[in-house]
Amino acid sequence: MEITDKKVVKLHYTGTLSDGTTFDSSEGKEPLEFMFGSGMIIPGLEEGIKGLKVGDKKTVQIPSEKAYGPVMEEAKQVVPKEQLPTEVELKEGMQLAAQGPHGVIPVTIAKIEGDQVTVDFNHPLAGKDLTFEVEITDIREATEEELAHGHNHTEDGCCGGGSCSSEDGEDKECCGSGQCHK
Ligand code: ZN
Repeated sequence: MEITDKKVVKLHYTGTLSDGTTFDSSEGKEPLEFMFGSGMIIPGLEEGIKGLKVGDKKTVQIPSEKAYGPVMEEAKQVVPKEQLPTEVELKEGMQLAAQGPHGVIPVTIAKIEGDQVTVDFNHPLAGKDLTFEVEITDIREATEEELAHGHNHTEDGCCGGGSCSSEDGEDKECCGSGQCHK
């Protein structure tokens, strides 16, 4: 079976920046599972793995415009310090989690000037060219329920539209497109 639209794919990946720094990897973890062609992963990675089979390994080079897009100046906002969480001491370059319209998003403290803090809402990988080493570990047909929802389900089932608290109240992280991980 080849990777085509609506197949549910599992892959291991290591993502590096142009200077060789690893920014994310599935090494030592479960492989990433997602529905192909549903926008759950960045466009450049979807293009790069289309047609691959189980066991295939590939290095995919992705320019920033097909990854997390350019850095946008308008995504930087100056906010008064009192509107930010006070339990941690703010430092320039620090990353915080902010509540966005589609779940939690990472933001960066770009600058601190007195009581004014510049918060950068750009994705931390915006403007960066990425390289992914991938290995395809599984490809399967999506179930009817998964096709109807437009995303894959994990062993825990469906997390709905992005809320990932399970029945026992345990908080889980949502990757943003309906996939939960603990
Ligand atoms: Zn679902």
